[in-house]
Amino acid sequence: MQMDLAQRTVNGPVRVSGVGLHSGAPVDLAILPAQADTGILFVRTDLPERPVIPACVDTIVDTSYATTIGTRAGTVSTIEHLMGAFSGLGIDNAVVELSAPEVPAMDGSAYPFVALISRRGLRSLGEPRRCVEILDPIEVSSGDKFLRVEPYSGFSIHYEIDFDHPLVARQQFEEFITQENFESTISRARTFGFLKEVEWMRDHGLALGGSLENAIVMNDTAVLNEGGLRFPDEFVHHKVLDMMGDLYLLGMPIRGRVHAFKSGHALHHLLVRKIIDSPGSWRLTTEPTVWNLPPRSLAQEAVTFAHTS
Ligand SMILES: [Zn+2]
Repeated sequence: MQMDLAQRTVNGPVRVSGVGLHSGAPVDLAILPAQADTGILFVRTDLPERPVIPACVDTIVDTSYATTIGTRAGTVSTIEHLMGAFSGLGIDNAVVELSAPEVPAMDGSAYPFVALISRRGLRSLGEPRRCVEILDPIEVSSGDKFLRVEPYSGFSIHYEIDFDHPLVARQQFEEFITQENFESTISRARTFGFLKEVEWMRDHGLALGGSLENAIVMNDTAVLNEGGLRFPDEFVHHKVLDMMGDLYLLGMPIRGRVHAFKSGHALHHLLVRKIIDSPGSWRLTTEPTVWNLPPRSLAQEAVTFAHTS
């Protein structure tokens, strides 16, 4: 098969229902195919004017606990895991319709989205995919936290977390990102929280839809979920997923190496903003990278590519 470097979208509607992690509100979500150069658009179908909210740095309105985008007409929150799925699967264009203000939590990871989208397949749109090639390091920081992207031939992430909790503690992730490792590990890592914080969050209208079905919850010494963790370093893998989703608000993939220390949504978004504000430090390219290659597992399934040989 010829390498497919074209923009992609879903091969047909992907529909799913669930509840929002923070709002607890039931929501129907549909991911619909979109034309080349559309980007990712969210549409609030429950509001009378059906406002369209583009997923980009200019629409970010809140980054505490989750990523919320919005316009005056409406907001959509907790978009990061779905955006992570789009990033990891190389989906450039889609229209996401929602019947409520929050993306469904599913199982707390991106994997349910990945599985549903993979079943439907992807469609090549013919137009070349652009990506942001980093030419000079760009860094943001806050206290001892920092996030940096530097030149690299593909897309690679080094992420380190350091939590004051015996089960999480210091974990590191350092890998070249492929759609294979995205599907097999990163996309399966669930969001996590501490029992101590859950009560506080609920008092503040957060985590109302959260449960052991859609989040890893820990007390001072143990994971409370039956079955425990999916893999020992699930926590740092989830942070990588969050970051992939947040960085995808750039509107296209990055060719570069990302180095993150104790980062989070706010810093992820600061980096996207700083990249946009540093036009001399990157260039747009349509040259192939490994990142652009179609995933073997998806290609073996029902993926429809327009250019095959
Ligand atoms: Zn998350």
